[in-house]
Amino acid sequence: MPRRRTLFVDSDILVVGGGMSGCGATYESRYWGRDLKIVCVEKANIERSGAVAQGLYAINCYMGMQWNENQPEDHVRYARNDLMGLVREDLGYDIARHVDATVHKFEEWGLPIMRDPKTGRYQREGKWQIMIHGESYKPIVAEAARKAASEVYNRIMVTHLLMDKQRPKRVAGAVGFNVRTGDFYVFRAKAVIVTAGGASHIFKPRAVGEGMGRTWYAPWSSASAYALPILVGAKMTQMENRIVLTRFKDGYGPVGAYFLHLKTYTQNAYGQDYEPTWYNSIRERVGDYVDRHPVPTCLRNHALLEEVKAGRGPIRMVTTEAFKDPHKETVGWENFLGMTIGQAVVWASQNIDPKEINPELTTSEPYVMGSHATCSGAWASGPEDYAPSEYQWGYNRMMTVEGLFGAGDAIGGSAHKFSSGSFTEGRIAGKAAVRYVNDLGQQQPQVSEAEYEDLKTIVYKPMENYEVGRNEIVAGTVSPSYILPIHGLQRLEKIMDEYVGGIGAHYTTNEPLLTRGLELLGMLKEDLAHLGAEDLHQLQRAWELQHRVLASECVTQHTLFRTETRWPGYYYRADHPKLDDQDWHCFTLSRYDRDSGKWEMEKAPVYHIVD
Ligand SMILES: Cc1cc2nc3c(=O)[nH]c(=O)nc-3n(C[C@H](O)[C@H](O)[C@H](O)COP(=O)(O)OP(=O)(O)OC[C@H]3O[C@@H](n4cnc5c(N)ncnc54)[C@H](O)[C@@H]3O)c2cc1C
Repeated sequence: MPRRRTLFVDSDILVVGGGMSGCGATYESRYWGRDLKIVCVEKANIERSGAVAQGLYAINCYMGMQWNENQPEDHVRYARNDLMGLVREDLGYDIARHVDATVHKFEEWGLPIMRDPKTGRYQREGKWQIMIHGESYKPIVAEAARKAASEVYNRIMVTHLLMDKQRPKRVAGAVGFNVRTGDFYVFRAKAVIVTAGGASHIFKPRAVGEGMGRTWYAPWSSASAYALPILVGAKMTQMENRIVLTRFKDGYGPVGAYFLHLKTYTQNAYGQDYEPTWYNSIRERVGDYVDRHPVPTCLRNHALLEEVKAGRGPIRMVTTEAFKDPHKETVGWENFLGMTIGQAVVWASQNIDPKEINPELTTSEPYVMGSHATCSGAWASGPEDYAPSEYQWGYNRMMTVEGLFGAGDAIGGSAHKFSSGSFTEGRIAGKAAVRYVNDLGQQQPQVSEAEYEDLKTIVYKPMENYEVGRNEIVAGTVSPSYILPIHGLQRLEKIMDEYVGGIGAHYTTNEPLLTRGLELLGMLKEDLAHLGAEDLHQLQRAWELQHRVLASECVTQHTLFRTETRWPGYYYRADHPKLDDQDWHCFTLSRYDRDSGKWEMEKAPVYHIVD
């Protein structure tokens, strides 16, 4: 094995992940910490990384307070309703009250936001969404972060967090490797902000084999935002609350602009409106949540799924009427070209002209992400002026590990942040982290040489496994002594699909399935010690897999713990098919003990702060 260089980087604040929230955290840390050293580390290149890499067509979280369109309280009510009653209202309110200022900055930095020619206000796509020419959204935001950071380290995958050698419950930095040069990096920091995005590819996707990379959520979002904190004992919340999206079939093209702006609608294979058919059955499961407006996202999925199971699929989006209007036709195509070009290509390849044919819709495999219409992530301390005392134990957005902050997909309980809310939450975390660093005084954390040297051995182990093991084979990819990351990934996806409620199981699971799923995940974890990586690219895949597996275990533990079906349409506990507000109007919390490998589960109260 070649000797790998170890490079040391010291900082006051280390931001792990340079996506939307990471850029927000970097930008704001500099604003409050003029003299501090702020370092952002990213496994890709912040110019085009994260879920917004390809651009977006709408900013999904904007209040419009300057025009009195919405108030932060309205957004809290909306998110609470969509999440079937369970959100951290303090966190949601905190973002909503600041998000408009963030969007105004984006415009100032050059993001073209569409305006309504009549009113001069931002063009609304829906109550919360405004439309943008967003192909360059990410480079624009990244520029602000680049200028604010002391240093940005691109192409470094962070694999583990480091803890203080004096106080093992306090974070002290992180380690990772450069995916191009193979150098090992030890980042020593006083505070760490984890913003490393959510998780795709933990459940088997609809597109496998040749289409495997085609998923709705970014395939490079590999659960690091969850695995990094989990591994150091941070409490996680609502990890069972995975998201399933209704999307255009095969290309995962988004439907929001179609419903909201083009006013298209859905029907079954026989041209019927199917949602009313399932009203009574949904009501039986969830009570009057089905009568709320807007109808929660999961419940709309439920009707689609039941209709398909009843044999009246496929479900189609009626585009032929809207596309007669040339303006709407343009908007329909541009919506994809600015964000999901693949959908336009899929339609072209399948002879679908939405002016002539109503395209099919389907539901995606589940994803885990805390910034979209679900709530998975770390349990974080809330804003000092607004959070109930039980939600406050330190600085705003600090996890239950001292000095460890998070934002975006990383923070749980606060859905509907989207791109603008994630950047805003990054800013909130950055500001709080600066205060934390300033308050530290002489009490600075220190990393242990033994810890990072051990981690160095562990990080490169898959390359060693490969080098030794490949001598046992003459051709092919299957070796008796290692598994390749792709094999491990496929095994993970199969377990999650079959046992934890993926597409193959109609999103349905129960206690025996989950228990068996955990056993199989345990066996997979044993085998991960024998991952083989042919090169640095595969080494990255190996560590992405490690992160995905740990996050998946967490999802499974949470799903087992919550003995109700709170979000039909996202997943079903067949042994507890109804929503149970009496016992489960609460958050679920987990804590992983890396020494014993055990998970502790508990409930936490949901406080309704907004009436
Ligand atoms: C398909 C799709 C469509 C969307 N559409 C919209 C929309 O129309 N409007 C809207 O407002 N929002 C939209 N969103 C939501 C928005 O993109 C997210 O809410 C937002 O990007 C979340 O920010 P984040 O910082 O948590 O994650 P990301 O922006 O994904 O950033 C995470 C970053 O961490 C990096 N990273 C990951 N692991 C590591 C590691 N181990 N080491 C170092 N770096 C790492 C990643 O490379 C990435 O740069 C959409 C999201 C998706 C997936």
